Order: sequence, then C-alpha cells, then structure tokens
Amino acid sequence: MGNVTLEHITKRYDDVTAVDDMNLDIRDGEFVTFVGPSGCGKSTTMETIAGLTKPTEGTINISGRDVTDLPPKDRGISMVFQNIALFPHMDVFDNISFGLRLRDYDDEEIQRRVDHAAEVVQLEDMQDRMPEEMSGGQRQRVAIARAIVRNPDVFLMDEPLANLDAKLRVHMRTELQRLHKELDTTIIYVTHDQAEAMTMSDRIAVIDSGQLQQIDPPLVCYNEPANKFVAGFIGSPSMNFVDGEVTADGFESEHISVEFDPATAGVSVGSQVTLGIRPEDVYEVGKVSTVEDPTAEIDARTDVLEPMGNEVFIYLLLSEDAEASMDSTQSDDQLLMSTDPDTTLGENDTINVVLDRSKVHLFDAISGEAIAHGLADPTDASTAETGVSSSD
Ligand code: ADP
Repeated sequence: MGNVTLEHITKRYDDVTAVDDMNLDIRDGEFVTFVGPSGCGKSTTMETIAGLTKPTEGTINISGRDVTDLPPKDRGISMVFQNIALFPHMDVFDNISFGLRLRDYDDEEIQRRVDHAAEVVQLEDMQDRMPEEMSGGQRQRVAIARAIVRNPDVFLMDEPLANLDAKLRVHMRTELQRLHKELDTTIIYVTHDQAEAMTMSDRIAVIDSGQLQQIDPPLVCYNEPANKFVAGFIGSPSMNFVDGEVTADGFESEHISVEFDPATAGVSVGSQVTLGIRPEDVYEVGKVSTVEDPTAEIDARTDVLEPMGNEVFIYLLLSEDAEASMDSTQSDDQLLMSTDPDTTLGENDTINVVLDRSKVHLFDAISGEAIAHGLADPTDASTAETGVSSSD
C-alpha cells in the first residue's frame, strides 16, 4: 500500500530550482526522513508529495496510483506541520474529529476512530480538554491524532517538533517511533536536525541544493557517506577534512601522512583528495590501546577544550603558527578530537595524536565524491580493504 515513488521531480520558481531531478522510492511502512540545511528543498519536495505544490516536471506515485494531478484530499495522505493549528474554541474530541465530520462519517464511526487515535497518542482521558489547557507536546499529539483518524496510507510530517522545547523534542522522538511501530504506516518526515533524522528513521534522504545526495539507513550515511557533503552534514560535531595529495605511499598533506596502497584503495597517485576523519577517530598517543591500526603520529598542541560531560572535545593546532578558526574541522592545520572525560590534558599542552586508519575516509577534492571508507595498512596483507564499490 503506502509506497511513494518520485520520478524526476523538479520544481522551479522563476530562477530558483528548489527541487532538482529528485528520484525516490519509499517503501510501504518505511520511516524516511528528508534532512539537509535550510533552503535545500526538503519542504518543497514534501509539498509536491502532499499535492500542495505542483512539480514543474516529473511524476509522483502513491500506493500504486499516479497522483501527480490529484488534489491533496485524494492522495491517501495526512499531514502534520510545525505550526500546530488547533481550533482554540474546540475541545480535543472536536479538534480530532473535525475532518471526519466534514466527510460525513456517522457518529459511531467518528467515535471509534477518535478513541483509537486518542489512545495511540495517549490522550484518551483528555478528549474534553480545550487546547489552552494543554502543553505544547499534548497539542502536538492532538495534531497527530487528527492525522491518524483519516487512516492514511502515508503520513507527511514537516518539522512537527520544531516549536517544542529541547527536552520535549527528545521525548516526542520516542513517541513518533512508537507511533510508527503501532500504525505500521509509511512516514515521511522533514527536519533540518540531523540528530532527529539519525534516531528515528529507517532511511535518511540527505538533500543539498535541491538534489538528493544519498538515501540510506542512518548508520550507512554515518559510516559510508556518499560524498563530502553527507560526511560533513551527518554527525555532530562535523567530520574533520584535510586536503592533500595521493603519493605512492598514501595520503600526504603538510601535517598529516597516512600510509596505504593507492591501487588497493582505488585511487591514482598524484590525485588531489580530501581526507575525512571523525573527531572520535582521532586518538592521543599513549592512550591508543583501542586503536588497532594507528597512522603515523601527528604533532599537535591543544587549544580550546569543551567538556561535554560524557566526552571532551579538544581543538588541536597542528603547526606553531596555526590560528584557531571558528570552523576547525575545515582547516588543514587543525583537528578536532573527542576524548574521555577523565583526560588530564589542559590548554596549550603538546601532544601526539594518531588517526584510526580503518576509519579514514577519502573524497575526491574536486567533486567531493567518496573514494574510500577505511584504509588498510599496506604492510598488513591480512587487512581487508574497504574501498567504495562502484554502485555507490
Ligand atoms: P527547506 O524546506 O529545505 O528549508 P524549501 O523547500 O522551503 O527548503 O525551499 C527551497 C528553495 O526554494 C529555497 O531557495 C526557497 O527560497 C525556494 N522557495 C520555496 N518556496 C518558494 C516559493 N513559493 N516561491 C519562490 N521560491 C520558493
């Protein structure tokens, strides 16, 4: 039933291409999240599925029907938006049942559906409450219940948690996962918050400049990002990126060398590449017992420390004249390292660090496409190579 297919969807507003040749195949019962920076085209893509916006080109299929020219009400979808538009003068029951009454369902059927929806969102005892007597989270659950009673094939949710405070947002994430399990319905969800996308989704569709960059399960996007954009967008703080060149011995930049066999990694000697390494894959020498395959040591000086409670982020400067910049993860003479909260390091300490070679990513310096995820020690014949396969 609730499968959604987008074929070559493009949406142009004058000279702005909001969605650029989007192809997506969302399976029945999947929880798929559109994620990307503000203005990347998430909402517009969603609006074309909802029928609120007509695509300039392309077709949309829902539950096996071409719905490209159908109005929203005939598409078998229900929508939940960021702004919870409840009727202030109606109680919970009336708010939830409003759409059903417009559609001439009989009282018994309305009562049955509202009871079921209220139970799913755990508001069964609040059906006679007025919106003003409810918290933000409860009001959002009323909006979700209103979507549930329509019994849709597909739920469309556009930043439904954006107006809630941080604690409630985290709570509602769990609620939405429970809801998804209980209803066993397709959910398409829009957020700019990659943590929200990571925790709830079966698959994440990462979008940039109207173009789909990757659609995969969250951990695949994290561990095997298709390109530098996905690598930098998924994960917080961001992956470190260092530009360099491939030599016969491996990767070489001014401060970082990583030995590997270019042929095995599928990269040609002399090519310009960007090395990517996540903060948790940078280790202080002397505390590296957990790294099976460390790279050559890198001289560093600690700059700012950010204790997070469960870990500490340490900004490292790799040369004497390195200046701390706002975006350390993008600079060739800086690295961000995540380490244990019990570290004895302070500011301005001189240390050596290594990278976990098996966690080093390589990207084409120009196109940003991924070349390899995890490199192997060239002297260790038993280490498996994990280069990017051509299907990526
Ligand atoms: P997101 O949801 O990822 O923040 P949107 O889909 O809202 O992004 O917008 C994508 C791009 O399309 C942006 O550049 C935005 O300014 C533009 N856009 C969206 N809606 C309209 C519109 N009605 N008219 C003109 N431009 C629009």
